[in-house]
Amino acid sequence: MATQLKRDLRCSEAEWMARQDLAACYRIFDRLGWSESIYNHITLRVPGEEAFLINPFGLLWSEVTASNLVKIDPEGNKLCGSPYPVNLAGFTQHSVFHKNLPWAHAIVHTHTPDTMAVCSSEEGLTPTNFYSCFFEGAIGYHDFEGITVRPEEGERLVRNIGNNRVLMLRNHGPVVMAETLPAMFLYYYMLQRACEIQIKTNAAGTPIEISEEVIAVHQRDRDQVVLPGGFGKADFDAWVRKLDTLDRGWRD
Ligand SMILES: [Zn+2]
Repeated sequence: MATQLKRDLRCSEAEWMARQDLAACYRIFDRLGWSESIYNHITLRVPGEEAFLINPFGLLWSEVTASNLVKIDPEGNKLCGSPYPVNLAGFTQHSVFHKNLPWAHAIVHTHTPDTMAVCSSEEGLTPTNFYSCFFEGAIGYHDFEGITVRPEEGERLVRNIGNNRVLMLRNHGPVVMAETLPAMFLYYYMLQRACEIQIKTNAAGTPIEISEEVIAVHQRDRDQVVLPGGFGKADFDAWVRKLDTLDRGWRD
């Protein structure tokens, strides 16, 4: 079936691989409880092309498959004969990052309650737990201007993310990007955990602030536990295996 679908889409082997990886990513995010009805996006650059893959607007993340992902140009125009529309408003901010940050091949934006709660607090993410320390000094913040659909906000979004991979949209939610889909997955995983733990810590008692010296050691030593294949690859592959034991429908 996959071969026929690949032929129908007239896509390259590289694009089909990207489609499978992205479909798996949507399903994994959904299984982990990080999807938002039919909204929010994970976008991935098609290797070697000025084109991106995005979820079909109107479907749940649990319904995304390799073949129903929509291929679009940087402006959000459809490049394939997909019967599904694209949420152009939602793609606006992804488009700004894809265009201005050429290394940002994979981007996710979510509305999970814990990340939104941290984005909505004055302190933002605090260096008070194992995961949040990884992001200390490596995160940008962007003040709320209403729903992010106006192109003129783009310049400020790019300025505020700076050299980081994470932008916390205040009163809204996080945007996480990376060079590869597995790396984006692992950065997001750690951010999601960091926010969940921060909320629980604040409810449990007085959070213990971690010193700059310990944060520096923590960040330095993290890079020594990366498995072969690059940052996040082993994690992503493990979740794909888990997914396959539950449902392989995303592969088509
Ligand atoms: Zn949003």
